[in-house]
Amino acid sequence: MFRLFHYRNRCIGCNACVEIAFQRWRMSKKDGKAVLLGALEKKGIYQITLDDDELPENIQAMEACPVKVIQIIH
Ligand code: SF4
Repeated sequence: MFRLFHYRNRCIGCNACVEIAFQRWRMSKKDGKAVLLGALEKKGIYQITLDDDELPENIQAMEACPVKVIQIIH
């Protein structure tokens, strides 16, 4: 299990996370930012606990994010 965080306010909607980890990320048509599917929002930070089978692609997404708004605690 790992915990995945999205500091959505600072997301610039570059689409990198969606391309890399499509089963967990989508682009919002409303505001053009990424959406972390299934996440709960707490003080502007979206977060979810996931099984390790989703870890590799989300590490890649974290590393690809140009503004570093994806974080993982594992
Ligand atoms: S990679 Fe980062 S900046 Fe780009 S859409 Fe995903 S969360 Fe937003």
